[in-house]
Formats: sequence, C-alpha cells, structure tokens
Amino acid sequence: VDAEWPRPLDGRTTPRFVSARGLFRLPFRESAAGLDVALLGLPFDGAVTNRPGARHGPAAVRAASQLIRGYNPATGADPFRVARVADLGDVNATPLDLAAALEAIATRVAEAASAGARVMTVGGDHLTTLPVLRGLKRAGALAAPLGLVHFDAHSDTADANFGSPLGHGTPFRRAIEEGLIDPARTVQIGIRGSGYGPDDLAWTTAAGVRVIPIEECETLGPAGVVAEARRVAGGLPCWLSFDVDCLDPAFAPGTGTPEWGGLTPREALAMLRGLAGLDLVGGDLVEVAPAYDHAEITAIAGATVLFEMLCLVAAPRGR
Ligand code: MN
Ligand code: MN
Repeated sequence: VDAEWPRPLDGRTTPRFVSARGLFRLPFRESAAGLDVALLGLPFDGAVTNRPGARHGPAAVRAASQLIRGYNPATGADPFRVARVADLGDVNATPLDLAAALEAIATRVAEAASAGARVMTVGGDHLTTLPVLRGLKRAGALAAPLGLVHFDAHSDTADANFGSPLGHGTPFRRAIEEGLIDPARTVQIGIRGSGYGPDDLAWTTAAGVRVIPIEECETLGPAGVVAEARRVAGGLPCWLSFDVDCLDPAFAPGTGTPEWGGLTPREALAMLRGLAGLDLVGGDLVEVAPAYDHAEITAIAGATVLFEMLCLVAAPRGR
C-alpha cells in the first residue's frame, strides 16, 4: 500500500495504553487550533507512592465517558453547544524517564494553550498537574499565579516522596514554589486520613492555603464549602484539580491511595456545580486506576466529574 496509509501504532514508541476513542465520543484532533477547550489524556503514573495503575486512567475514563450525554439538566449547561471541544488524545509520556515524561506533558499543554484553547487533562497520577501548569505558564497563559480549587483526600504539598521532590504527593508544593499557584487563593477540599504527626500540614497552612478537612466539609455542608471556595479562589483566574480519591472508596475504589470516610457523589456534584461562574482556565481529573476498580465504578465517577468540570470550563466568560 502507499506509504501514507495509516498503520498500527508501534508498541516500541507509543505505549499500548494510548486510546482509540475520543472522550465523550468527540473526534480526536491532532491540533488545538480553533478549539475552545482541548481535552488531553496523561497516561503517566511514574510518581505514585502506593498502588500503581493510573497510567490506564485516560483509557478507562474515555471508555466510561462514551455514556455521557451532551447536556446537563441540573444546571442547564450545554458545553458542546457553547464551546468547540475535542480530544487531543494521550501524551506519549514515557514511564521510564520522569523528567522526559513531565517535559512531554508540558510541551503538549503549551502547544494547546498557545493555540488559544483552555486545557483539561485526565491523568495519570497527581504529579501530572505540575507539568500541565508549567505548560500553561510557558504558553504565556498565566498572567499571574492561578487560584486553585483542589478536591483530594490528600494535600499533595509534601516536600518530597522517598527523597524525590517529584512525586504524586508533592505537585502543589512545587507549583506554589514555582509561582504557578497562589497559595492565598488555594482551597483544598476533603482532606483526611491517618497522618504522621500534628505538623503534617504546617507548611501548607503557613503558606496561606485554606485546607477544609473532611470533618469541616461535614459541618459546613456542600453550600458552605462552596461559599468558602468562592471566597478564597474567586474573582481571578483559577485551576480546578479533582483527585478521584476525594470520593469515598465505596464510590471510587479504583485509585492508588484510597482513604475511607470521603465525599459522596452527591456532595461532590453539589460542590462542583456550586463553582459555576468562577474564572476557570481549565482543570484536571487524576488518579483513576482501573486495575482496582469494580464494574467501572471509578471510571464512571471520573467521566461524570470530568463532564461536570467541562460544563464549568466551557461556560462563556465574563459572567
Ligand atoms: Mn492528589
Ligand atoms: Mn489523593
């Protein structure tokens, strides 16, 4: 056949967990040119500290997202009618070289942002958020450090994991140090689990981050959490980062570092929907690890959360 005819991808150069169908049944596109929102898979889990497998997250979320319809009856959001959205596929992030993988992610994100698209990514472990933010900065898409609304069981502001400054427990420490995120406009929602001591979050709170542990989520209720998130992060551009382990493991078993006693789906939905109107430049969904999933529970949660996030990010600006 002629040389241009597509051949199967080569497993020696393109990892075999790269996907075949677009998120939300959207077409795959090579370029972000002309897009309002570019969706991008980040199948990388080389920075996990416990159970690996989030490299398969983009494929699982893509598969589960085939179920999602285009309209959100609860909010009236109609993302695919107000924004040009496409799936740019997965970044070829090698699992064998951490620095090279992060650079590949930053490069691809910078390309998409430079084309004028807002970027949303599907991980991958939570370290992938760091090169995403670096890519935005490289593209000139950050006039100032972003605010951050961060759903997670974990603060991810450790100084190191096993001596490495780059682990899935460190991305927001690095992002704050690199001036990508403004700690005074950062809110972390759902933090919980056993710790190492009373000073675990001393650096984080001293930096000015507003931590809302799961116990305070309970007393505030979703509306109170939303009000606090808007107070801290609102008014200026911000990023939305959703670690699926913020949900209780009953609702998201397929993840690397599960913590019992987490958010319910309806609490998470209420909180996400309450963020409508924030100036969200983009967002990420991370830590879906399908090998520990059952009946696609976590993949469906991830796809649904990604859709709710898209409803927010795709909304027209200037409201
Ligand atoms: Mn995390
Ligand atoms: Mn987490």
